[in-house]
Amino acid sequence: MHAFRDVDYDRYTITKEYDPDVETVRQRDMIRRAAELAKEREDRLGRRLNACVVTFGCQMNARDSEKINGVLTAAGIELTDDENADIVIYNTCTVRDNANQRVYGRLGNLGVMKKKHPDKMIVLCGCMVQEAAVIEKIRQTYPFVDMIFGTHNIYKFPELLVRLLEDEGMIIDVWKKTDSVVEDLPVVRKYPFKSGVNIMFGCDNFCSYCIVPYVRGRERSRMSGEILEEVRRLADTGVSEVMLLGQNVNSYGRGLEGEISFPGLLKEVEKVEGIRRIRFMTSHPKDLSDELIEVMAESRKICSHLHLPVQSGSSRVLEMMNRKYTRESYLELVYKLRKAMPDLSITTDIIVGFPGEEAADVDETVSLIHEAAYDNAFTFIYSKRAGTPAAYYESRMSAEEISEGFNRVLAAVQKEARKNVSRFSGRTMEALVEEVNEKDSGYVTGRLSGNVLVHFKGDASMVGTYQNIKLTENKGFYYIGERV
Ligand code: SF4
Repeated sequence: MHAFRDVDYDRYTITKEYDPDVETVRQRDMIRRAAELAKEREDRLGRRLNACVVTFGCQMNARDSEKINGVLTAAGIELTDDENADIVIYNTCTVRDNANQRVYGRLGNLGVMKKKHPDKMIVLCGCMVQEAAVIEKIRQTYPFVDMIFGTHNIYKFPELLVRLLEDEGMIIDVWKKTDSVVEDLPVVRKYPFKSGVNIMFGCDNFCSYCIVPYVRGRERSRMSGEILEEVRRLADTGVSEVMLLGQNVNSYGRGLEGEISFPGLLKEVEKVEGIRRIRFMTSHPKDLSDELIEVMAESRKICSHLHLPVQSGSSRVLEMMNRKYTRESYLELVYKLRKAMPDLSITTDIIVGFPGEEAADVDETVSLIHEAAYDNAFTFIYSKRAGTPAAYYESRMSAEEISEGFNRVLAAVQKEARKNVSRFSGRTMEALVEEVNEKDSGYVTGRLSGNVLVHFKGDASMVGTYQNIKLTENKGFYYIGERV
């Protein structure tokens, strides 16, 4: 252990009685130490130290990157999008094998840059490095990587940053699991007016194609009091839209004695003054309760959008995927939701080419897309994920059949989306303005409660405000509108 000034290790040594408050104090001290070390480097370089954080994958990773950016900023390090930076951090995703390959390819480029600038610091974190085989490969093939840390100890990033700036050589700090949830550290939000809030970590569902339960660990919910405190703090700093995040938010609170359920949590978040919109992600269909439908239907703040991953329209494939619902029970849920909330936008995820799937199963997926009348869907071709049960299943379709099936699914999604999004044409709806339009600076882009984008005339002063917009032109997946 290094003897840092200002840090009394005895006071902060973590004992069995783990105390998140003490840990937070410890990490805040580490930020101060990182700032000193960064300053020393800057004096040597004669310029500001900068860092580039690249996020791969899902909303949970995006939220983690905001925390990493928050710590870097608090340590006085400048943020940039340029990978020529002094520190480059890849926050990785491992859901698909090709995501790993992309990271390896980009790491090679960083290695070339580091040859020219040996002071460059390269860091890998996120889901990919939770796998032992990945760490081994990096040690062997990419020895220029300076630090690897996993998903469970991201709250220790200030301490890891200190170690990085102290030039310890390759640092590998990856934990198999954790019971700790330390959240009260600085963050830099991408948007000042909206923010993700982690309500739980990990997943217990073990869908047969998915690596998440192995790399993110068992499901752990945060205490509702802490979540609400965070939401209140966000509201105080100007956030009006929160997205509650977890791999399966519908099972929030399970295993926490005396804790409220997910619908109960939503009701409490609704009471927070200043919060105007509530979103959440992701909902597993098997755990979506009648109580949640009721709370959503009655709420004034919960957005009119539900992302409900179906993955396949064939009960046979769903069973092989270990999804624990059938085509029929899923559709029943969709009908219930539509009855309670006729304006609700429903979106989904679909995998084509799961091993064992046949053309007839794809037909069922296509027919389900029409029956569920989705507003949009993310469609993927199955990619084998080493370390999951499905990696041992045999494919029954050729590559051509899978590609043909994928195109049929995509065409069905596009047809439904165009039809269903158009049901709002001519109506006036509230949009939260997110940014000035990238292509035409005379326009701004807003998001409707149903998660559809609308572009309309405006300027930068509107960003972060709510505007009533008449939806004049349906462009398929988005609208052109006019302020009223
Ligand atoms: S619910 Fe299934 S797909 Fe989602 S994270 Fe858990 S195991 Fe993976």
